[in-house]
Amino acid sequence: MRTLVLNAGFEPLAVVSDRRAVVLVLRSRARVLEVAEDPLVAPAGSFPRPTVILLDRYIRPNRRRPGPVSRRAVLRRDAHRCAYCGAGADTVDHVRPRSRGGPSSWTNLVACCRKCNHAKADRLLEDLGWKLRVKPGEPAWAVHPGPWDSPGQLDDAWLAYLSGVAA
Ligand SMILES: [Zn+2]
Repeated sequence: MRTLVLNAGFEPLAVVSDRRAVVLVLRSRARVLEVAEDPLVAPAGSFPRPTVILLDRYIRPNRRRPGPVSRRAVLRRDAHRCAYCGAGADTVDHVRPRSRGGPSSWTNLVACCRKCNHAKADRLLEDLGWKLRVKPGEPAWAVHPGPWDSPGQLDDAWLAYLSGVAA
């Protein structure tokens, strides 16, 4: 299980193991914002399993080169939800189509269901009157890889804290 770490100021900073998150909390470096239903059982005892923690002090993010964009990474960032209709998504779409010069970038790629992908084809959102549900950007875990783990999958509890994260 993994825990989303928010910088003081609520900026998503990283993803760590839940054990590491509990250590941060026990050392009074962070406080728990969200917990999972099942506790974390360790030799020292049983603890509420944190899914989101907030650091007490602001850490200057170690800005590195952005992580690579891939179909899998975009689907993971968008929690496998279609950027247009919210249905389950297993394809990615170029918001500005490649045929019109749209790049394969974090800000131009979104998760998309097959139905919307087919309906949109190579048209622009303005042509269709469609809107994006969220503004696509570099996810926190791609901006700050470094010593942090990368998440296997986004936790639903994180979404409220991750929406609107841009590069
Ligand atoms: Zn859709």
